[in-house]
Amino acid sequence: MICEKCQEVTVLGLSHMCAPAWLVWCTDLGLEEGDADTVYAHRPERAAERWAEDYDRRNADYAIVRGSDVEVLVRPRIGVHGEPLRMLVTGETVPVYSAVEVRS
Ligand SMILES: [Zn+2]
Repeated sequence: MICEKCQEVTVLGLSHMCAPAWLVWCTDLGLEEGDADTVYAHRPERAAERWAEDYDRRNADYAIVRGSDVEVLVRPRIGVHGEPLRMLVTGETVPVYSAVEVRS
């Protein structure tokens, strides 16, 4: 099963607690805190990475993974005030090889 809130895979019958919620927004795209997406992650770095994965998927041109680094701001959704954390997000593509037997 997948948790509807945080999108983590959960095991039926085991209790599940969502990771902390972060607000993530990309200043390089001209976004402000009011445009922030909520991302669930155990670390702010992972929140920035998940945001980038979602952004690339939503926009279908995979700009970040193709080399356009972006800066995003991350802050806990509840509790902490003060300056958000600045994260530089980079992406890379990983070559994938596969083999099948050639039958003649
Ligand atoms: Zn959850």
